[in-house]
Amino acid sequence: MKLHEFQAKELFAKYAIPIQKGTVIERLEQLDGLTLTYPLVLKAQVLVGGRGKAGGIKVAKSLSEAKQHARAILGMDIKGEKVKRLLVAEAAEIGAEYYLAFVVDRVARRLVAIASAAGGIDIEDVARQTPGKIARVAIDPFLGFQPFHGRVLGRNIRLSGTLLNDFVKISTTLYRLCVTEDAELAEINPLAVVGDRLLAVDAKVIIDDNAVFRHPDLPRNEELTELEHMARASGLSYVELDGDIAIIGNGAGLVMATLDIVAHFGGRPANFLDVGGGATEENMRRAVDIVARKSGVRALFVNIFGGITRCDDIARGITSSPPPMQMVVRLTGTNEDEGRRILKAAGIHVYVDPEEAAQQVVSLVRGRSM
Ligand code: GDP
Ligand code: MN
Repeated sequence: MKLHEFQAKELFAKYAIPIQKGTVIERLEQLDGLTLTYPLVLKAQVLVGGRGKAGGIKVAKSLSEAKQHARAILGMDIKGEKVKRLLVAEAAEIGAEYYLAFVVDRVARRLVAIASAAGGIDIEDVARQTPGKIARVAIDPFLGFQPFHGRVLGRNIRLSGTLLNDFVKISTTLYRLCVTEDAELAEINPLAVVGDRLLAVDAKVIIDDNAVFRHPDLPRNEELTELEHMARASGLSYVELDGDIAIIGNGAGLVMATLDIVAHFGGRPANFLDVGGGATEENMRRAVDIVARKSGVRALFVNIFGGITRCDDIARGITSSPPPMQMVVRLTGTNEDEGRRILKAAGIHVYVDPEEAAQQVVSLVRGRSM
């Protein structure tokens, strides 16, 4: 679960990581009553990065300038996300920009600390173009990230004096935040030099979804698309991808295997929906409706292994409101004869072999694109 910058900074404040004085607004008029000192920086609160480049971050020297910027940014669309809130903070006079992050390295199976003197810009770009400018420390989970690790990392990016001391304090604190709050990423970019001190000008924190339940005090941010909301409301698990083949299956394992088979034969799943065990005709009807609504879907692949789920219920769910696109159905298990009869009567061919069915759906999509 991604936190907004202002939410991440509330955490920073709790852990005494230095941030700018600021507040969050949703309406233009809220700028009037602020007791902050100009110049102010106005920052779009969206869960996507690169807000600066997208025009979502502006400095204002006066109230009238602040209103002008706020008017432009509120409601702005940044990479598909509409700006509803602005963080308004006292602008920092930035000397240099550093980068600091703790992130779960899945290969090393531990947190790693990453630092760079090339802060302020996309760290992926730094990694690609000048990998030598990135310093890393993999953290032994039993030892933790100790002050001496902070000093090594800080010296590697050429910090000294009060800046190095600040760096040690901020990095050890950020590590503690990561572990305590179950963050899979905690990033400060830029970690800026202001005067002779370090300040967290930006903040990005992602909480491990599997640990969110352990943190009732953290905010809950929904990142669901409209269709994901619809599916959730119907109690169906649905996930969007960006291909052109919609996928419905029953049971997480079968659905994952279906995605793999389709990919194996060169197809690209557009989404997938798990109707779960014991799916009813109504569940199936809703499932077809949801996956077919996604734009860019050109074929539907239904892969059902009937156990508690009955193939005749599935078949009736499909035929009661067939999708407006080509469809391939693989159906075996409980009541499969009846299921097959219902689908056949509706002119739908049923496969028993999932690989054959997957190949068929991929060739349908390919055939149409040629
Ligand atoms: P991002 O673009 O979403 O990563 O947002 P950031 O908060 O990192 O801001 C992008 C850039 O805007 C920073 O790298 C800074 O150069 C600039 N910026 C942000 N806040 C301030 C500020 O308080 N003062 C100054 N001078 N520049 C700022
Ligand atoms: Mn940033």
